[in-house]
Amino acid sequence: MTRAIGIFGGTFDPVHFGHLRAAVEAREKLGLDDFRLLPAGQPPHRSDTVANGAQRLAMLRLALADCADLRVDDREVRRAGYSYMADTLAEIRSEAGEAPLLLMIGQDAANALDTWHEWRRLFNLAHLVVMRRPDAHFNCQGELRAEIMRRRVREPARLLAAPAGQVLSLEITQLDISSTHIRGLLAGGRSARFLLPDSVLDYIRERGLYLADR
Ligand code: ATP
Repeated sequence: MTRAIGIFGGTFDPVHFGHLRAAVEAREKLGLDDFRLLPAGQPPHRSDTVANGAQRLAMLRLALADCADLRVDDREVRRAGYSYMADTLAEIRSEAGEAPLLLMIGQDAANALDTWHEWRRLFNLAHLVVMRRPDAHFNCQGELRAEIMRRRVREPARLLAAPAGQVLSLEITQLDISSTHIRGLLAGGRSARFLLPDSVLDYIRERGLYLADR
């Protein structure tokens, strides 16, 4: 089997230590040599981002500057128009052959997976690794719940033995940090220090980002 790829998508508006710690722990626990943070271009299931794609990408690159184990995949930001995760995964699948693809998502995002474009297709393209998040519990319903229950595995090694289709719940250190909270602090003129890397905060300050909450 070719080497497995971990894909951690998000808006990263801005990236923070909750994302970064989750990425470090998920990569280690799953034993992945190829782990990518993939910023969304124009997220279709969210109204809009505050920072644009180039700015969110720049902040991610600054955050990962000293972190050789984690890389940035900039394909969605480079692509014009809407980006659906299913299309992005299909593109990565076409490059990766039969390699296991592992899509990381937080529990909050997993609970709303059935709002994603062609969500059922995601299971044909990748495994789902659901990372526990403060205040978010497994509470999806209906068809999504049935799909997740049916595909659930307990052993990370199972994911590395097949290209796609299984769901693993992963315990990670709980850091109650969100981009929304950081944007709110900055818009209110308060400090966001120690919630995200100083290099990212410097970038935000230099460009006057997030001064008005949206
Ligand atoms: P926002 O507050 O703008 O919604 P966010 O902080 O949730 O942003 P996103 O970029 O939307 O960050 O999240 C990308 C992915 O990272 C999602 O799957 C989300 O669940 C996960 N995530 C975000 N914050 C954390 C955290 N503190 N711990 C673990 N996972 C997180």
